Amino acid sequence: MRISVMGRLWGTDALAAPDPDSISWFSDTTADRMPRTSGVSPDAYAPWTRTRLAALNAQFEEQPPQVLLRWATDTFGDGLVQGTGFGPSGIVIMHMLSEIRPETTVFYLDTDLLFPETYELKDELKETLGLPIDRVHCGMTPEEQADEEEPELWNVNPDRCCYLRKVQPLERYLDDQRAWITGLRRDQSEMRADTPILEWKPNCQVLKLNPLAPWTRKQVWQYLFEHDLPYNPKHDQGYPSLGCVPCTEPVRDADGYTRDGRWGGTDKQECGIHTE
Ligand code: SF4
Repeated sequence: MRISVMGRLWGTDALAAPDPDSISWFSDTTADRMPRTSGVSPDAYAPWTRTRLAALNAQFEEQPPQVLLRWATDTFGDGLVQGTGFGPSGIVIMHMLSEIRPETTVFYLDTDLLFPETYELKDELKETLGLPIDRVHCGMTPEEQADEEEPELWNVNPDRCCYLRKVQPLERYLDDQRAWITGLRRDQSEMRADTPILEWKPNCQVLKLNPLAPWTRKQVWQYLFEHDLPYNPKHDQGYPSLGCVPCTEPVRDADGYTRDGRWGGTDKQECGIHTE
């Protein structure tokens, strides 16, 4: 359901949290999915010790991201998923995966509050690249959230809103996975400057892969143009980064970090899915 997010007030300020069992994901592609256990190498079950991760990070740092993605698909099979908000980096990775292992599942966190252009881009990418796409949702509409928490919780307590609509659904979704690909890059913000290529996420018990960590914004856009890939038209309207409508604004001078424009006027820089 798409809603008009500005200027609406909902319900009461009851404090009940949503039932975690209501958090759901479903495939945009097919209702009946095979269990994601096939194609998993024995290497995927070996402990991800610091020594092992350091060796792999050193190995992949100097190689094209496709080498890491090929290793990941060989190692994790159906236990590998890519998470994306359909930003430029995510589209690059989707395209690489479509050439390496097109059955790899992509997922997105649908907060119900994404830009209409983002939903349209998701449909276009599904059509052009053919990867299966899972929609991960918290199981609670914004109206229900207003009733159970606060009206426009994103203004009152954005950390709580992000936790309910992004972090909690992600953690539950990753319960069933072994490895999670992201589009994080070191040049996106100071907070992301030390992003490794591989890291273990103990809270989710998954290996997190950031294949474009060493890439620059210029490299990403070069790849998009060279491969004639679609991208979100909001980027041409001054939005360096796109999240939920209430928490994203255009930036007049968008030459800074590509996370500029998110949660403007606050200290908040991350929704929590990469920091918890
Ligand atoms: S980005 Fe804003 S609207 Fe979206 S989940 Fe976080 S606080 Fe809520």
